[in-house]
Amino acid sequence: MSAFTVAIDGPAAAGKGTISRAVAAHFGFAHLDTGLLYRAVGALGGDPVAAAQGLRPEDLARDDLRSLEAGEAASRVAVIPEVRAALVDFQRAFARREGGAVLDGRDIGTVICPDAEVKLYVTASAEVRAHRRWLETGGPDSAPGSHEAVLAQVRARDARDMGRADAPLRPADDAVMLDTSELSIGQAVERAIAVIAAQMVAAGLNPHPPA
Ligand code: C5P
Repeated sequence: MSAFTVAIDGPAAAGKGTISRAVAAHFGFAHLDTGLLYRAVGALGGDPVAAAQGLRPEDLARDDLRSLEAGEAASRVAVIPEVRAALVDFQRAFARREGGAVLDGRDIGTVICPDAEVKLYVTASAEVRAHRRWLETGGPDSAPGSHEAVLAQVRARDARDMGRADAPLRPADDAVMLDTSELSIGQAVERAIAVIAAQMVAAGLNPHPPA
């Protein structure tokens, strides 16, 4: 199959990652979690521009990139235009690889791949997203007050990601909106698959997963 790009954007903890992995597996597409690039730059420390320009595959394999702190550090370096610029070519080359690609992030449909064949904007209310994050990070076993703290963190990250001057988080004009607040993971994945399959048919491609 030729190149076919699926851009999946949305705020933290909306379900983008889970949906992206599931649809990539379903269609046999490659998947790039672009948040990992920013997380790796934040985790490397030192000059973030130099870190982004010299980023190596092994930097993405660190096992400390999934924490809340790494997410915070990522969103701080992600406001720097030179950091973003250093990561563009890699993401675009990945998007246009043969056989189809799913990229999830904040600016895939708006800046990295404005011509993507499919653009999805996955969202959910801040309360629902904070609750999911809280459950993932210990839930009822975590410290008192942690629920409010996670909600405050989610809101702060939204404000930073949506308010920055360069490539702010927003849906592309032609993005399909997918609000997962009241959907199970299975239902959200099913809807995403239906949107992608319809675009594949429109592009003359076979939407059935490889055998
Ligand atoms: O998606 P994830 O939570 O891993 O992203 C971490 C941070 O990296 C985001 O809050 C955002 O600031 C930044 N990011 C970005 N552009 C992307 C992906 C992530 O600015 N395409």
